[in-house]
Amino acid sequence: MTQELRFDGKVVIVTGAGNGLGRSHALMFGARGAKVVVNDLGGGIHGGGQSSSAADKVVAEIKALGGEAVANYDSVEHGDKIVKTALDAFGTVDIVINNAGILRDVSFQKMTTEDWDLIQKVHLKGSFSVTHAAWPIMRDKGYGRVLFTTSGAGIYGNFGQANYSAAKLGIYGLASTLAIEGRSKNIHVNTIAPIAGSRLTETIMPPEMIAALKPESVSPLVGWLCHESCQETSGLFEVGASYFSKLRWERSLGHVFGTNKNISIEDVANKWEKIGDFTDAEHPTTINDTFGVINAAIAHKSLGG
Ligand code: NAD
Repeated sequence: MTQELRFDGKVVIVTGAGNGLGRSHALMFGARGAKVVVNDLGGGIHGGGQSSSAADKVVAEIKALGGEAVANYDSVEHGDKIVKTALDAFGTVDIVINNAGILRDVSFQKMTTEDWDLIQKVHLKGSFSVTHAAWPIMRDKGYGRVLFTTSGAGIYGNFGQANYSAAKLGIYGLASTLAIEGRSKNIHVNTIAPIAGSRLTETIMPPEMIAALKPESVSPLVGWLCHESCQETSGLFEVGASYFSKLRWERSLGHVFGTNKNISIEDVANKWEKIGDFTDAEHPTTINDTFGVINAAIAHKSLGG
């Protein structure tokens, strides 16, 4: 039998842990020996209001199961305050789960600047702020696990979610660079795009689907990605309803006209099929994979079109 993967002695911050996915992640970490900072502003799904009850309830649940937890009620915009709670209560931070989120869904035509700004502030700035405050601590100790939460809406786009899509894909960009910067310090950074029944989804999904999409079936991936024995970093995963998968970029072989050629719009139109042909496609993983093909294109000075 596989040995139980535990988090004894590890300090984990879970943002937005008062409900849904965050609550499930926090309970999982608490049940497996971690000391948990349960962060939650306790507001509504559109970002209004504030209450300590959401975080308090989950702290009580973790303690009732014999775990250790402390509440924090600050907005994720104030990551330093959340990290201070971890330091005051437990002395360090090992794992950061960026999960807090709200929605302001509206078609782009009707979207206000406030709808845009609020979503960027909670999702993108919030993920930055909490991680930025914990980063020096993890660097100094040469250990850290960071998990970001994106969305299919960020990866693929979704009607009425321009603000949310932008913030969510921004989070993946942040994660990709932090995975590079954290590598030498044993800080692993991964991103999940979950699907789960929660306050955020119960207004857009039928009740039977909500019942089938348990947040508890997402948390095991979070646990594995944040375990000390997991070497994965810079990954992007889709997860929900017991489905687990990994995503990657794909790039067509493309077409090189040669840098000596004056390229016209018609040249591009004539090669359009080849430019978009994914036969023998590549799967670039680093920015060097971009420079590789660009340098090769520069070398092809006199290649005709
Ligand atoms: P949820 O509403 O059940 O939980 C989110 C929690 O975040 C709430 O308790 C809320 O009070 C808290 N929160 C909101 N703003 C906060 C802030 N500024 N500071 C601290 N806490 C704050 O939602 P959920 O479905 O569990 O969503 C969790 C995360 O997963 C979100 O980032 C969401 O965008 C993402 N997500 C969820 C789904 C899904 O299917 N549920 C799909 C894709 C992405």
